[in-house]
Amino acid sequence: MGKVLRLLLGDQLNQKHSWFSKKSNQVTYVLMEVTQETNYVNHHIQKIVAFFLAMRSFAEWLEKEGHQVIYYQLDDRKNAQSFEANLKAIIEEIAIEKFEYQLPDEFRLDQQLKGFANALSIDSEVFDTEHFYTSRYEMKDFFEQKKSKSWLMESFYRHMRKKHDVLIEEGGKPTGGDWNYDKSNRKKLPKNHEPSSPKLYKKEVKELVDQIQEKGIKTIGKIDSSNFIWPTSRKESLDLLDFFVKECLPLFGDFQDAMAEGQWSIYHSRLSFAMNSKMLSPKEVIERAINQWEKRKTQIDISQVEGFVRQIIGWREYMRGIYWAKMPGYEKENQLNHRRKLPDFYWTGRTKMNCMKQAIDQSLDYSYAHHIQRLMITGNFALMANINPSEVDDWYLGIYIDAIQWVELPNTRGMSQFADGGLVATKPYVSSANYIHKMSNYCGNCYYSRTSKTGEKACPFNSLYWNFIDLHLEKWEKNQRMSMMVANWKKQDPKQKEEILTQADYYLKNIEAL
Ligand code: FAD
Ligand code: SF4
Repeated sequence: MGKVLRLLLGDQLNQKHSWFSKKSNQVTYVLMEVTQETNYVNHHIQKIVAFFLAMRSFAEWLEKEGHQVIYYQLDDRKNAQSFEANLKAIIEEIAIEKFEYQLPDEFRLDQQLKGFANALSIDSEVFDTEHFYTSRYEMKDFFEQKKSKSWLMESFYRHMRKKHDVLIEEGGKPTGGDWNYDKSNRKKLPKNHEPSSPKLYKKEVKELVDQIQEKGIKTIGKIDSSNFIWPTSRKESLDLLDFFVKECLPLFGDFQDAMAEGQWSIYHSRLSFAMNSKMLSPKEVIERAINQWEKRKTQIDISQVEGFVRQIIGWREYMRGIYWAKMPGYEKENQLNHRRKLPDFYWTGRTKMNCMKQAIDQSLDYSYAHHIQRLMITGNFALMANINPSEVDDWYLGIYIDAIQWVELPNTRGMSQFADGGLVATKPYVSSANYIHKMSNYCGNCYYSRTSKTGEKACPFNSLYWNFIDLHLEKWEKNQRMSMMVANWKKQDPKQKEEILTQADYYLKNIEAL
């Protein structure tokens, strides 16, 4: 075998990959910190730091294992700041005879590396990342074979549970008797209930932050350079997994949808970065959770563990399936024709709406918000305010530590913004203040009144909700799951309807002042 160059992207940090089971002095691995990746959207500073630290830790591990590694830091003299330019130079410099890479999870990089490999005069080969349960087009094939018109997550999820024998009893029945315990996953956090404090990794990262700033990379959000909190090695990722299954899993399902002031992660795992960078595999995460439940069945109800498993073997793989089935058209979908600019307060947290302030502030502070904050606070508002989904995408893609397009896009454009016309979400995720009050304590400290629809201090979510129903009424009349909302709107007193729409119009015209 001649000399081989193997590229590893920043989200391909899978120590268990079969590439690493053999050592060869003919093989060189390359990892690079490039502005090509930091600048395609404005990222949170913690996100860039997390990826670069995780890559550095991975390169160290490779070297310790006896592999040959080329690692370009951001300010390396030889670093031309793009994959193609760097790869070309290395291939020439060390007389590489074959180029190998792993399937990128992003369409953008997939196209780029395919084009690059095809144009090379040497051989090239692409390998699976050996991370996901499903291959790229497996879910598309699953729904197409079933000739399903709607791609329901639940039917895919049940198929996955059976196929991979996850929480399945003899005879193919689901453990506990039910496939889904979603109904018991909707509790509000009781008044004096203190969730366990999140486990944080307090690392010094000043040097890296300086490197990023010296390169002039534009970032968003805050960072405490002497206390960087995210896991950036396999060891830390395994440790966070251990903390999660012991401390958070017993109440994960119960409070999965709950939100509370000052509690930024409640019982959520915060494992998305460790998984999306592939430091942890979804399989080991699920197995660890089930194993913990098996040991502590008297303390951990099946609903907690099923709620967690569903997110990973269900939603995570489902989103990946949607992405590969629908790209590249998906990133342009805007079936509700929403055009408004994203208000500035998404970038600053300066708003009188307490729920929005809480969700945005913690996103700027930690590069993290949990699912219901993303869906039912910031996403809900953007949808009801008719914000252009491309602007919404850029915000989600930039701000969250775990945001990589394959998972961000179907969640944002599909699930949250209904821009695909209802492929991912069978009805739009919109709500008035009622739901937010039911699931959080945000409304208690708000400038706005959650019970008012009109008037100076009326909660904007209330009039915007009905305005959204009214604006797309024709569409909702054809959607069975929206029939109650449509009927409810239609039967309201015409004068009151007019007042609500006037209030919404005023808020939308003065959106920056909210
Ligand atoms: P937990 O609540 O502890 O859940 C466990 C794991 O399940 C997560 O780590 C994640 O891997 C998986 N998971 C849960 N829900 C989803 C989902 N809907 N889609 C895919 N995986 C899921 N997740 C991302 O990883 N990257 C994103 O860029 C992203 N963008 C989102 C944008 C919007 C508008 C919404 C509504 C959701 C988004 N999600 C995204 C999904 C979800 O919010 C995050 O995965 C989750 O909040 C991460 O926190 P956690 O690790 O504490 O999750
Ligand atoms: Fe949000 Fe309205 Fe509640 Fe204020 S009153 S926290 S704006 S839902």
